[in-house]
Amino acid sequence: MATTARKPRRTPSKAAAAKRKLIYTFSEGNATMRALLGGKGAGLAEMTNAGLPVPPGFTITTEACNAYYEAGKQLPDGLWDDVVGHMKGVEKETGKGFGNPENPLLVSVRSGAAFSMPGMMDTVLNLGLNPETVQGLIRLTGNERFAWDAWRRFVAMFGRIVLDLKAEDFDEPFDELKKHAKAKLDTDLTAEQLREIGEQFAQIVKKKTGEEFPTDPYRQLELAVRAVFDSWFGKRAHDYREFNKIPHDLGTAVNIVTMVFGNMGEDSGTGVAFTRDPNTGEKVLYGEYLTNAQGEDVVAGVRTPAKISQMRDEMPEVYAQFEEIAQRLERHYRDMQDLEFTIEGGKLYMLQTRSGKRTAPAAVKIAVDMAGEKLITRDEAIQRVDPAQIVQLLLPRFDEAAKATVGDRLLGKGLNASPGAAVGQAVFDPDRAVAAKEADNPVILVRIETSPDDVHGMLAAKGVLTARGGATSHAAVVARSMGLPCVAGAESLKIDYAKREMRAGSVTVKEGDVISIDGTTGEIFAGELSTIEARFEDEHDLATLLGWADKVRRLQVWANADYPRDAERARAFGAQGIGLCRTEHMFFEEDRLPTVRRMILNAHAATAAKHKDAKERSADERESVKVFDSALAELEKLQADDFAGLFRAMDGLPVVIRLIDPPLHEFLPSHEELIADVTRLRTTLELAGDGSLGVDAGLVQQGLVKLFGTKDAARAMRKIGLSKPEPGLSVQAFDRAALERELAEKEELLHAVEAMREQNPMLGLRGVRLGLMVPDIVKMQGRAILAGAARVAAEGKTPLPEIMIPLVGHVNELRETRDILEAEVARIVETSGQQVTYRFGTMIEVPRGALTADEIAEHAGFFSFGTNDLTQMAFGYSRDDAEGKFLMQYVDRKILPENPFQVLDVAGIGQLVRIAVEKGRATKPDLKIGICGEHGGDPQSIAFCHEVGLNYVSCSPFRVPVARLAAAQAALSTTETRDK
Ligand code: PEP
Ligand code: MG
Repeated sequence: MATTARKPRRTPSKAAAAKRKLIYTFSEGNATMRALLGGKGAGLAEMTNAGLPVPPGFTITTEACNAYYEAGKQLPDGLWDDVVGHMKGVEKETGKGFGNPENPLLVSVRSGAAFSMPGMMDTVLNLGLNPETVQGLIRLTGNERFAWDAWRRFVAMFGRIVLDLKAEDFDEPFDELKKHAKAKLDTDLTAEQLREIGEQFAQIVKKKTGEEFPTDPYRQLELAVRAVFDSWFGKRAHDYREFNKIPHDLGTAVNIVTMVFGNMGEDSGTGVAFTRDPNTGEKVLYGEYLTNAQGEDVVAGVRTPAKISQMRDEMPEVYAQFEEIAQRLERHYRDMQDLEFTIEGGKLYMLQTRSGKRTAPAAVKIAVDMAGEKLITRDEAIQRVDPAQIVQLLLPRFDEAAKATVGDRLLGKGLNASPGAAVGQAVFDPDRAVAAKEADNPVILVRIETSPDDVHGMLAAKGVLTARGGATSHAAVVARSMGLPCVAGAESLKIDYAKREMRAGSVTVKEGDVISIDGTTGEIFAGELSTIEARFEDEHDLATLLGWADKVRRLQVWANADYPRDAERARAFGAQGIGLCRTEHMFFEEDRLPTVRRMILNAHAATAAKHKDAKERSADERESVKVFDSALAELEKLQADDFAGLFRAMDGLPVVIRLIDPPLHEFLPSHEELIADVTRLRTTLELAGDGSLGVDAGLVQQGLVKLFGTKDAARAMRKIGLSKPEPGLSVQAFDRAALERELAEKEELLHAVEAMREQNPMLGLRGVRLGLMVPDIVKMQGRAILAGAARVAAEGKTPLPEIMIPLVGHVNELRETRDILEAEVARIVETSGQQVTYRFGTMIEVPRGALTADEIAEHAGFFSFGTNDLTQMAFGYSRDDAEGKFLMQYVDRKILPENPFQVLDVAGIGQLVRIAVEKGRATKPDLKIGICGEHGGDPQSIAFCHEVGLNYVSCSPFRVPVARLAAAQAALSTTETRDK
């Protein structure tokens, strides 16, 4: 992943920035100003204006951040004076002085972009402390311990974040001190011990940076503001934006907020809470808090906090006030809120409100519940859920029966921080997790606790396990936002990074050992646990939401399915038809392959022979025709059964069956494989002689090993009865005839493959072209389709077959194919005596087909866009090679915005689609048009399909619910919002 900082695109010029208002006090902003003030700044402003207890402060805009980058990391003109002016304002409002030892004002400097990026950027607390102001703090609070605690925290945080020192530079001496003082928790340390460690930290800064720790508060402030700006392009923030597709040119705002202290004693505390449970969506205040602590302690997961409900007992009045504020904010924003608060000496302060991140089940439940509570409309509920999240609800989970028998494989239990089942090798380091992913090994990232520096490892993992931290710790929040299963705070695990292992009781899990974690229950297991499919029918909230979606969407949702079981599942998921059955998939089944091969090996010879009068055919030709026809007859029976199964499953709904599409040699062994086989067999025969000559087995073995390597040589040796040749032993009689037969078969196959080989098979003899060259194959398929349909009609059901002809680029191809097929299928219907309606249609997947869609429509009952091939052919990218060779790099390097095989390229391929729709409908205004390429299940592409006027999208069964929601969202985004 590229990590170089890029210049923001929309940066105002220096002069323009100088004129622009770059700072807003909290009372000047509001919730609509997210882009300018960031989410945090806009939230603080909105809460201030709503009269909620927010510490005074102001926000430096995202535009200032962009101007800073534009000017080569220089603060924009006038910004600094403006900051100083606003600090004066805060001093006035609080009655405190910045740097004044008598009554010191301390501030936090917090990042805050328009989109929440939890833990990705920097924040500095307690800024304004220095040896003099610490004394003032002691005098004012009478709490020496608190003041020294604030000081040591500040020096370490400033050192780490602003001066770029390592966390270990401070953590190690701190842990040493705790060990020495026999202190279990930070709160066990005395004021004197904290003072000493603060002093030691300042010395560490001096030693590492060569400069004194800055004591001038304004110098501190300037460095901190710059550090927050710089963190926008820090590696982890950059990676996070790449992953979440957040543009890089938005910039971060900087919030300067008067410090309030949660670590002033037992009547102080700090916490984070959600107005509803972000895991399940249940309507309860969900969160945690720590008494006598600062915010970083909760988020970093250093101490495991208490449940928020405990606050009800410990601080009933504050809890009641907080609960009331939480409800008010949720009503105000009409969404679940993620709140940060601090209690200083019994007084509550709100530090943040923002829409909370949530799991897929929670997103669905909250949307449905809120619509039920009339807090939002049903249309809004539909728009609240990200269609991609729906997939998560349908993912497999651990099999309860398998769980019940795990016995001592249960390693422990932590918090169920982010739901889902994950299985992988335990890896204790983020870099090694990335390496393992690159080697295609699924991994579970196991950490004592995670920090933003671990994010790249989390991105590479199937799941995350931590030994420390709560449900709002970094690991939990980030995992939830990524849809990664996560178990957090499994404190019984002893993780040893140095030894690359973890111990759970007497069990030791070494790096590379497979473990399974259940983010839904918090359980951790040794080894691999089997998973089962999710039960769609149990997802009642999802059913409600999709029911609402069905009422607003215009696009129908069909599914791509080849087998009855897939069709049944798709139908249960709400599919309204089958948009693509790839018939050739049935040919690949192992027990059919020999018949398919017999058919293929004789296809061309038999087709040519059939052009001759029967009497004029040679014996070989007659044999070819015989074998070919009998193979086809067998396949016809099998395919009729297959299709009948599909029609039964989709009774009353359309089923689009596509005639054979790939080049025939795809059903034969590869050319390379055959050459190798033939060479090996020939050489073996040559070296072994006829078995009666007493050839030295050792020499045969040596020759084979030299030519083919040990493994293949051993295989060849077995064929001549020498599984373990001993020195001096000679080759005995073996079944030479059998080997020769095998060689002859392989040679025949090789010749056939060589004859069919193409340099560009994707542009070769496939699709409609193949049907025109070997019409018997498609005739057979046409008959099988109608025979299957007639059989199901006879059962009293309603089959609705639609026969689809692939890869049409010229109208004549379609016309001629229809001519070949029509009489054939009509005959089947007629002799069946059943009433079966069917139609012929075509795929639009060759650019020329799209451009001449008006002519093609004359002969097509429907169109279906094959956007996989359309993308391949219009971009000129090989579908089979591009992703592995260059496409992923193209996306990383932003040469392309997305992988065009996943997200439809509207600017290019979209034009072809648009042209084909317009031209097709110009010929036939009611022409039914769908899409069956992979894009049919992609929400962004679905929006385009809606806009361009398709009738349906067809996607894999699991994506049907996703598509139902995405289609509704597309409809809502193009119509007036209305409620149903
Ligand atoms: C397509 O090309 O989009 C398509 C659906 O067909 P296939 O992927 O089978 O070529
Ligand atoms: Mg195709």
